[in-house]
Amino acid sequence: MKKINLNSFAKINLSLDVLGVLDNGFHQVSMIMQQILLCDDLLIRWREEPKNDCVTVSVSTNRYFLPTDERNLAYRAAALIAEKYGHGRSGHISIDIKKRIPVSAGLAGGSGNAAAVLHGLNILWDLGLSLNDLIRISSELGSDIPFCVMGQAAADKTLKPRFAGDPLACHCALATGTGTNLTPLKHGLHSHLVLSKPPISVSTATAYKGIDSMTIDRHPDNDEMIKGLENGSLELIRKNMVNVLENFTLRRYPIVAQTKARMQELCDSDCVMMSGSGPAVFGLCRNIRQSKQLCGEMLALNKESFWTRTTW
Ligand code: ATP
Repeated sequence: MKKINLNSFAKINLSLDVLGVLDNGFHQVSMIMQQILLCDDLLIRWREEPKNDCVTVSVSTNRYFLPTDERNLAYRAAALIAEKYGHGRSGHISIDIKKRIPVSAGLAGGSGNAAAVLHGLNILWDLGLSLNDLIRISSELGSDIPFCVMGQAAADKTLKPRFAGDPLACHCALATGTGTNLTPLKHGLHSHLVLSKPPISVSTATAYKGIDSMTIDRHPDNDEMIKGLENGSLELIRKNMVNVLENFTLRRYPIVAQTKARMQELCDSDCVMMSGSGPAVFGLCRNIRQSKQLCGEMLALNKESFWTRTTW
């Protein structure tokens, strides 16, 4: 039996802009994604069973409400690799996921799990796929997965040495098009932060649809945000921390607005934002001490509150 342990890290959006809607209903976005240290642990095992003449997959997780069949993104990632590279192989892939990242939060937790499975099977099956190959394959599974593939190559301790020097291995990226066109950014954000997730889930599709008919008066300037990241200018970064999906989610779900307002009361109000389509809200902190203190306060409102930091 062969096995590998990998971490799959969450992401936050430092900005999220919607530029338009395509004829097929997909939204054109421009957003900056930043990896954070909060992660799930995956144990991926491959056991050869020559008698079976096929590849089977199973998933287990510590979150009872998550599906473990083909609805699970980690399962789908394994099935995709088996479909593409499983001919002539026979055995069982088992994936055990210890989740810490809140589910359906706007933190790409499920996407990260899928990305880890792609990386893991690349190693267990000696596929020799480059990071570019893995990114291409991952785009068949979902729009946040390519970023997670890139991020894990830069942050996971087992994967890091394999992809050292590859410019696609990065902690921060600009995503354009429908979200899968990624430009790695050499300079990400170095910051401690607090995440707080109200006990509701927000459908990403509904949030995007929700803003279709809205007039949005504040947009981020992502070129300026990138300049801010390059120069380490917190002022330019804060100025462009804008997520246009807040227009929908904050109005539809008062608990998300309340979470944001509470965090703004407790730390600098212009560096608090919702991630993705929500409902997770994050606030940047000056140091680890402030993040622990803020997290303590946010726990009184939302049980799923965490202090963490960006990766670098
Ligand atoms: P994104 O930011 O990419 O929109 P998210 O953080 O909002 O993602 P996820 O936690 O990835 O959301 O989960 C979204 C949906 O995917 C949920 O309905 C969940 O049941 C399903 N899902 C499938 N597989 C997984 C997984 N391995 N971990 C978490 N959720 C999963």
